[in-house]
Amino acid sequence: MNSKDIVYVNGAFVPRSEARVSVEDRGFVFGDGVYEVLRAVNGRLFASKFHDERLRRSLDGVRISLTGTDSAERLTEIGRHLLRENDLLKGEATLYIQVTRGAATRAHNFPPPDVSPTIYVSVVRFTPYAELAQTGASAISHPDLRWGRCDLKTLNLLPNVLASQAAKERGAFEAMLIREGVVTEGAKTNFFGVVDGSLRTHPCDSHILPGITRSVLRDLAHEASIDIDETPIRSDEIPRLSELFLTGTTTDVMPVVRLDDEPVGKGRPGELTRKLQRVLAESLASSD
Ligand code: PLP
Repeated sequence: MNSKDIVYVNGAFVPRSEARVSVEDRGFVFGDGVYEVLRAVNGRLFASKFHDERLRRSLDGVRISLTGTDSAERLTEIGRHLLRENDLLKGEATLYIQVTRGAATRAHNFPPPDVSPTIYVSVVRFTPYAELAQTGASAISHPDLRWGRCDLKTLNLLPNVLASQAAKERGAFEAMLIREGVVTEGAKTNFFGVVDGSLRTHPCDSHILPGITRSVLRDLAHEASIDIDETPIRSDEIPRLSELFLTGTTTDVMPVVRLDDEPVGKGRPGELTRKLQRVLAESLASSD
């Protein structure tokens, strides 16, 4: 926990232990809301413009309108303020932004227009997975049981929660989700894999979250003249993977060296994975 641990809820900066939302909040009752997670390195938020853009897209996608002077940029700005307030301007931290459709008497349809969204912003200290990033992690495959708009970052994470727990119970870091014979993404990450020498990842469609790390890494790979093929990897191609790695705001580039108890490639992080790990680390260190 941060030494001060101040969070922002609906217009007020309060100690986390005093922060309150209604039991009628639609985030609590229906999971009716969206969120963002950003990485802060020495007080600078990594790729904040992309996160603002994705938050706006998620809000539009579920038809939640911010009211008054609130905007995605303003919520990110509140996050910067919280980093200062909580003495998190040095080292690593994460910023969490959540917007729900507000608190109202329970009914599935939207509440009356005068009900304002509930806004919650919080920062916490973060420690990257440095050791696992060196040795590589393990993963399991798991059915992708999610809905048809996985491109929106909504609070409805139950299939992700169940898949993550299944991975944890098998001693694995991540669950690779399989929908109709295709590996879509991880329960909390996107992924890239090398099959027959080509680096592939799932295209950005409604079956995956358009990860900010995925997108940043695509650009960095392009600059390094590394081609990426967005042909989805089928589950029957898994045995032919020579490299596999996950990407995410808190995961960076994480090599996967075992999948379903079988080694991936030589069972250690591959060369391309190592290279992209370095490239992303440099970008994080020099971010604005
Ligand atoms: N896919 C899913 C399902 C996620 O939940 C996340 C992050 O939380 C990601 C991918 C990675 O996205 P990002 O790189 O924006 O953190």
